Amino acid sequence: MIKHKSIPKREFNYCPICGEKLLVDSIEGKDRKNCRSCGFVDYKNPLPCVSIIGIKENKIALIKRGIEPSKGSWAPPSGFMEAGEKPEETALRELYEETSLKGEVIELLSVHTHDVEIYGSLLIIIFLVRITGGDIKAGDDALDAKFFELEETPEMKHDFYHDSIEKAKNLIKKRYKLK
Ligand SMILES: [Zn+2]
Repeated sequence: MIKHKSIPKREFNYCPICGEKLLVDSIEGKDRKNCRSCGFVDYKNPLPCVSIIGIKENKIALIKRGIEPSKGSWAPPSGFMEAGEKPEETALRELYEETSLKGEVIELLSVHTHDVEIYGSLLIIIFLVRITGGDIKAGDDALDAKFFELEETPEMKHDFYHDSIEKAKNLIKKRYKLK
């Protein structure tokens, strides 16, 4: 995962194209920062990221987050998509970077939007992944990484993580035998 520790908030004050100071004007019905010199408009689009519900033998791989947001809390491995990457590729790359585990994407579980102070609006794509190999080990951005029994997952900051785990459990029971 890319580190942005020193950036307090993603906010342009000057045009990232030509360097002029941005001004606020009503554009397409909303007040938006824009550059009157080159026409750049600072649209606020969600930033896509991927979270992984990684399962092996009725256990789930979770990390204790080492960076903001939600530093110190347990969460599924997660990270930002890179340009040119498919969401499934992001899932497997982030899983490996944060836990040293390898896996295969089984199915899309859910998609959410969520606002955080540092990055603004996030689009969070959550995949069910079957862990296929590797020994679990926390990556640079995590304080810890370990497997939890699916029935004994720790408290996590967002309901959508818990909801996705419930959905994964039901899918595993009904359709797959993830071992
Ligand atoms: Zn400009």
